[in-house]
Amino acid sequence: MPIKVTIRRDECISDGVCISLCPDVFEWGDDGKAAIVEQYRVGDDLGAGKVPDELEDCVKQAVESCPVQIIAMEKE
Ligand code: SF4
Repeated sequence: MPIKVTIRRDECISDGVCISLCPDVFEWGDDGKAAIVEQYRVGDDLGAGKVPDELEDCVKQAVESCPVQIIAMEKE
């Protein structure tokens, strides 16, 4: 079952923590805020994605480490 991941990008403070911890899922968007990597993105929203189960631990680390707590994950 894929994992649904969302970033409330308007509140991102661009410190790069999620990208350092989990570069398979998070990258910089052109606007300098964190985005879901293109491979796992859903639709046109840079902050919405579905990622495979094997990346759960790394997404979880990012969720727990984001200083402004704007990353959410949900198992489908
Ligand atoms: S950890 Fe949070 S605040 Fe930092 S870049 Fe990622 S989404 Fe933005």
